[in-house]
Amino acid sequence: MTSLTGTSIAEIKCEKCKSVFETQVIEHIDLSEDREIIKALKIGKANRVQCPKCKKVMYLDRSIVVNFEPENRIVVYDPKATTEEAKATFQTDYESIIAFNEILQEIGAETEFSVFSNLDDLKTLLEEYEKAHS
Ligand SMILES: [Zn+2]
Repeated sequence: MTSLTGTSIAEIKCEKCKSVFETQVIEHIDLSEDREIIKALKIGKANRVQCPKCKKVMYLDRSIVVNFEPENRIVVYDPKATTEEAKATFQTDYESIIAFNEILQEIGAETEFSVFSNLDDLKTLLEEYEKAHS
């Protein structure tokens, strides 16, 4: 299966000195490839960035797609997706992505897809994953 781990470049404004800088942010995590990230995910600090100017450390409130490989589970964690509507948007996006490709459609049919805004929900799953695959 193709790795879903990925990053992108985002423009961030420093909370402290207000300077704008570009940084790499995590968008996808494949747990089977990156066990180290579990710790950071569990405390909601996977996307840690540092301002190059004033060295202020910040944790970004961005959505992260977590692939629980080898389990057929994909979770979008977004602390801002607190409404049913926001969650439904992710679900629709996911369905439109997998609709493009036959292989993804097959994977999609077997995959449990969920959207979490509550860190505790994600934490529970991460702990189960760690127990099952340690
Ligand atoms: Zn700064």
